[in-house]
Amino acid sequence: MAPHSDHGPDPDTTSSTNEVDIPILIVGGGPTGFFLAHMLSQFGVKCLVIERYPTRLAAPKAHALSPRTLEICRQFDLDVNDVRRLGTQRDDAYWVNFVTSLAGYYVGSLPYERMDAEVLEHTSTMIHNIPQPTFEQFVAKRLARDGVVEIRRNHSFVSCMQHGDRVTTLVEDRDAKKTYEVCSRHVIACDGAKSRVRETLKIESEGESTYDTMMTIHFNADLRPVINKQVGMLHWIMDPEVSGFIIGYDLSGNQVLICNFDPNKHPAESWDEQHSRKILTAAIGCSIPFDVLSWRPWVLSRKVAERYSVGNVFLVGDAAHSFPPTGGLGLNCGLADVHNIAYKLAAIHQKWGGPSLLATYESDRRQVALVYSQQSVKNGQQIFGLLKTLGTTDNDLETAKRNLFQRISDPNSRPDVLKGIEGQREHFDNLGLHIGYVYGDTEIPASASLFVPSYRAGARLPHAWLTSAPSSAKLPKFPPIDCSYVDELDASALGYKQFSTLDLCAFDAFTLIFSTAFTTHWSNVLSELRPNLLKSAGNGLKINAAALGEDFELVAGARRNEWVMGLQLERGAAVLVRPDQHILNCYGVDTQVGEILKGLVTHLGL
Ligand SMILES: Cc1cc2nc3c(=O)[nH]c(=O)nc-3n(C[C@H](O)[C@H](O)[C@H](O)COP(=O)(O)OP(=O)(O)OC[C@H]3O[C@@H](n4cnc5c(N)ncnc54)[C@H](O)[C@@H]3O)c2cc1C
Repeated sequence: MAPHSDHGPDPDTTSSTNEVDIPILIVGGGPTGFFLAHMLSQFGVKCLVIERYPTRLAAPKAHALSPRTLEICRQFDLDVNDVRRLGTQRDDAYWVNFVTSLAGYYVGSLPYERMDAEVLEHTSTMIHNIPQPTFEQFVAKRLARDGVVEIRRNHSFVSCMQHGDRVTTLVEDRDAKKTYEVCSRHVIACDGAKSRVRETLKIESEGESTYDTMMTIHFNADLRPVINKQVGMLHWIMDPEVSGFIIGYDLSGNQVLICNFDPNKHPAESWDEQHSRKILTAAIGCSIPFDVLSWRPWVLSRKVAERYSVGNVFLVGDAAHSFPPTGGLGLNCGLADVHNIAYKLAAIHQKWGGPSLLATYESDRRQVALVYSQQSVKNGQQIFGLLKTLGTTDNDLETAKRNLFQRISDPNSRPDVLKGIEGQREHFDNLGLHIGYVYGDTEIPASASLFVPSYRAGARLPHAWLTSAPSSAKLPKFPPIDCSYVDELDASALGYKQFSTLDLCAFDAFTLIFSTAFTTHWSNVLSELRPNLLKSAGNGLKINAAALGEDFELVAGARRNEWVMGLQLERGAAVLVRPDQHILNCYGVDTQVGEILKGLVTHLGL
């Protein structure tokens, strides 16, 4: 078969015959590449990571780790208590503020995502804000501790060929100016939005550009004296000179301004430090010292790859989908892709799954990316639309500023301004998108914010609090979650918010959950199931049993009742949960063993 790519290495690069043989090659040492490498190392599956550059960019990019991302971290032994100690503290991140400039007029606020104590009814780990490089370093440190993953920096993917179920990848060692081949069973492309792997595979993307041109300016400033008590994660600036938002990663230093600009008036090529300073000064609204670190133009657009794989090469993260940052969904989507594909890869390499298991990666994850991408563009269009109308369009800046002030202070027009802000609420509450997607559903959710726990196949196992760590030695062990960052909770409430139903699920096992009143029945089912599975899946496939009332207990209250009723445990039903904490199926007490076996074997592609 001909190589998938015409890309050659640099002209003065020589070829070498040194071959590497590895089960899985990961292309790209960004957050998704490292997250996958960490997960595979937990499974005991060997991989090699190649990263094109010696170091990562310092620009912060993502700031919001969704509840789901943190739940996934916890399952893979990345301590969420440690993650939460890094990054922006809850008080500083709680609000989205709308202002004419940081030092100017305060217009209104919305909560930034769900950081109220009530959200802990639905997730054990509420959203946390942390600069992407800090999170990447956290994962990288852990990866170094794992000690089993080889990372080759300054090594770049050039092309690949597939023959049978093997992939031969040509890699350029950019230091040595040599190319070499890596033979692997799978290649996972985590090489970002401009993925060379995707291009090599000739995979097109669907999506559209809104042609809104944006500029991201990375700067360093102590903004605390300017904003005083008006802290917040995002500060939307409604000034006629600059319509955009400041992400307050660290209000005492590291910040980003993302703004809309008119390329006819200021073509991207004409931007320089001086112009960036002018725009930043307008956004800050007073004269304070700051350093401009970089500026980068981009277009508000969305792209989702038309397919997520060719043969044994798979796209993950931004290589598969890219959205504008309005919604904070890109990185979170990529990390959940990784979670979905990791156990499937492990199953195949450890022979408890067959190749068709990987086909469910695309059917599970692509729909999520479509929904996220549409929501991110909608958010961007709505909010920049609002800013444009408020910023007023008078060519004379002083007149435009006067008009804006008039609109926000005049009792006749102010309610409309506040209504416009209120209309952005969904943009800043994505709980439904973060934890509500159900694999197999193709409907676009009516609201990004609405989350209703779902107790059916494809849904994430709903969270409810356990009274204590699961007692069965066969279930995984996790450190208690520390919710003391939520000031409203007293000591006794904190004591009941340490372990989640999600903690019942080991990352490398299926989990059958039932009520202790039916332990004999479901133990018999498992005893019959296991020898049958042994024949097709060998002894690598693990199914853990978790009996409510015996192996774990739920904190009493309405959520307990809802959880037990939702899964119909008191009527003898059981729920089989996949290693990625999504429900494979719910079974009534009368279900035949053959049906459960068929469901598992079909899912695993055996
Ligand atoms: C301003 C901003 C704010 C954002 N905010 C959020 C947010 O709050 N929440 C959120 O979820 N997302 C957010 N995002 C999106 C998030 O930053 C991306 O989704 C995320 O970085 C994607 O990670 P990745 O690992 O898939 O790709 P990348 O981070 O792009 O990493 C890809 C890696 O592959 C390497 N590579 C490329 N080509 C090759 C090659 N040929 N060979 C080897 N290696 C290669 C690159 O050098 C890079 O290190 C934001 C983005 C921006 C710009």
